[in-house]
Amino acid sequence: MFTCSFCKNHPCDTNDKNNYPPNCPSRDTEDLEKIKELYKEQENYHLAYQSALVEAEGYCQKTRLEETIDFARKCNFQKLGIAFCLGFSNEAKTLTKILTHHGFSVHSVVCKNGSIPKEFLGIPEDKKVEQGTFEPMCNPIGQAMFLNKEGTEFNIVLGLCVGHDSLFIKHSDAPVTVFAVKDRVLAHNPLGAIYLSDGYYKKKVY
Ligand code: SF4
Repeated sequence: MFTCSFCKNHPCDTNDKNNYPPNCPSRDTEDLEKIKELYKEQENYHLAYQSALVEAEGYCQKTRLEETIDFARKCNFQKLGIAFCLGFSNEAKTLTKILTHHGFSVHSVVCKNGSIPKEFLGIPEDKKVEQGTFEPMCNPIGQAMFLNKEGTEFNIVLGLCVGHDSLFIKHSDAPVTVFAVKDRVLAHNPLGAIYLSDGYYKKKVY
């Protein structure tokens, strides 16, 4: 079992091999050689190289929005996709305007595309958010397939729910970045639960 989350001082960050714990993935030199080979594949190399440049150039200066634009530019992505949640419609509109202003061709698909009722998944009435109403299922596979059809080169997730984002990422042909995640309680800042886990949220999370 790998337990990097409990590792003291993260010695891999300083190449301090003498202090790697016994179950450290950095000790697995055989697999690491295979992993390094993957970075030599053209697309992986390109994404890894450009993201390292974006990280360094914008470090503590540029917002995620600016870094997303920089990354897309460096990678020569022209056609961008936005997979957004209906609840983020205003944000999707603004993000589209900004990206378009920066010269990208922006394609966006909402989660409720297809208007497929939740009954299609076998969801019973009492498991709907609002019982007794037409409730379309979120259709992240549709978001991915429609953006694939448009030939988007880079897809941006904007506020998809847990699990729906998994399906979108799984089916997207283009590389995906997450601009924002859904957290209806914490203003889309799920780390709030982590930061309060020793205090106000202790009883809620343990
Ligand atoms: S890779 Fe090894 S040294 Fe780095 S955090 Fe994980 S266990 Fe610690």
